Amino acid sequence: MSSVALKDVTKVFPGGTVALDKVSLDVADGEFMVLLGPSGCGKSTLLRIIAGLEEPTAGSVLMDGEPADDLPPRERGVAMVFQDYALYPHMNVNDNIGFPLKQAGVDLDERQRRTVDAASALGIPDLLTRRIARLSGGQRQRVAMGRAIVREPALFLMDEPLSNIDAGQRAELRTEISGLAQQLGVTVIYVTHDQTEALTMADKVAILRKGELQDVGTPDAVYNRPGTMYVAAFLGSPRMGLMEAKVEVWEDSHLNLVLGDQRLQLPWHDPRRRILSRYRGEQIVVGLRAEALTPVAPGAPGNVLAGHVRTMEHHGHETLAFIDVGATAAAVDDNRSADVARVPKKGMWNSLRRTVSRIVDGTSPAD
Ligand code: ATP
Repeated sequence: MSSVALKDVTKVFPGGTVALDKVSLDVADGEFMVLLGPSGCGKSTLLRIIAGLEEPTAGSVLMDGEPADDLPPRERGVAMVFQDYALYPHMNVNDNIGFPLKQAGVDLDERQRRTVDAASALGIPDLLTRRIARLSGGQRQRVAMGRAIVREPALFLMDEPLSNIDAGQRAELRTEISGLAQQLGVTVIYVTHDQTEALTMADKVAILRKGELQDVGTPDAVYNRPGTMYVAAFLGSPRMGLMEAKVEVWEDSHLNLVLGDQRLQLPWHDPRRRILSRYRGEQIVVGLRAEALTPVAPGAPGNVLAGHVRTMEHHGHETLAFIDVGATAAAVDDNRSADVARVPKKGMWNSLRRTVSRIVDGTSPAD
């Protein structure tokens, strides 16, 4: 069992930097929680507080429902994995993985058995006699993971473990780490600023900004139903286009979104009408995701928004068109990139076929 609960955790460093501001977060037993946010938002500080390496200025950490604030790090049953691996370069893989067991006084036979088990789980049993200096970044990270799992902790804290690994190996290790966590049934709190890592690995993502928790939820929930404007603008590549709009409803059957001097009519069967009709007559913000938009040629019939193509980006399997429609919205064309490329730069549009990911009201993304 290993659940973690943070209650109003605040950290103010000497000098007055507020690294965390009343953060409350529940991590269930066996959950893979990713803390996501830009550099300096307080992710590492939060992890260090959970590990007991840093004391909160206010608030409390509970482990399995019990206050853990007075527990020293070694009594918290956690293992940490860092981005710089923190391995001992003069030892081989076997001795690095087995080191925590040696320190804990575990006898040699048991130590060796658990070291081999950990190395096998990570696919590196044939590297046990290899020196650290002769390993690739990905192999070093596996050794660092091995050193963490050999202690059989119930809670893993990982601080950007993949940031020094090249892109190819990173994708492989992402799958390995989440698979391993599932197989071992452990709780993981994983820090990253990489949203692909967050959205692909997490059971739940917690998004931090300037020490404040913005949103917590499954990858699907935070991506498709962001809790704040900041999260709407932060998640996704390309970023969601955010536009002010007004909701017009008349005769209870027509619903229009008025975006600047353009108007989109939502068909009667569109499921978003129910949410939108709550905002009748109001000014709202509409989020446009690239994958929900389809580019069409000027003059095409139907529900279209006209805009000026600012730039095109070719990604091999798809082409992105960045279009000024009051805000910048990106539209994606999967297999017809040649057609998109031929569309004149002026007067290209985006249709609102599956558009609005979420209607959010609140502060502007620049806040
Ligand atoms: P990064 O992704 O760059 O590691 P982060 O989200 O992990 O960033 P933290 O390292 O937790 O952010 O830092 C949060 C804030 O607290 C930053 O403004 C940082 O400068 C400040 N900070 C962190 N550690 C200390 C410290 N020991 N003394 C003073 N300020 C600190």
